[in-house]
Amino acid sequence: MNCPYCGSEGTRVVDSRPSDQGLAIRRRRECAACGRRFTTYERPQLEPLMVRKRSGVQEAFNPDKLLRGLLLACEKRPVDPERLKRFAYRFEDQIDAPEISTEAIGKRAMAFLRELDEVAYIRFASVYREFDSVERFIEEIQRLGGEGEP
Ligand SMILES: [Zn+2]
Repeated sequence: MNCPYCGSEGTRVVDSRPSDQGLAIRRRRECAACGRRFTTYERPQLEPLMVRKRSGVQEAFNPDKLLRGLLLACEKRPVDPERLKRFAYRFEDQIDAPEISTEAIGKRAMAFLRELDEVAYIRFASVYREFDSVERFIEEIQRLGGEGEP
């Protein structure tokens, strides 16, 4: 972290302790260039990743919804569900922004599925692009799954 006084990159932590009853970490830092000390607090980010739908409506990102969509796309395909779970539950950590569009989620999911299974990728891609929510995508996948079954 750069020094807030002189902008130097050469700062080091001189003390680190729990703060706010363990909900934060307080760090005392010292700048090697100007010698001044400053304090930083590290705390968990409690605001969820927001998803912006095409309609403009926002909702909190829900990894379970994403996982359901992925599982449906991979139905009867030789894909380890654990890999889908890892993708869905670590998804939020990959996004370095407070919000993301449904299109961007779909693109990332498609890129992921493309590496895993071509059929799952095509199922997901052909349907997801048309919809503004994972719920509607799931409905559509279920509808498609019902056709042509013996
Ligand atoms: Zn400094």
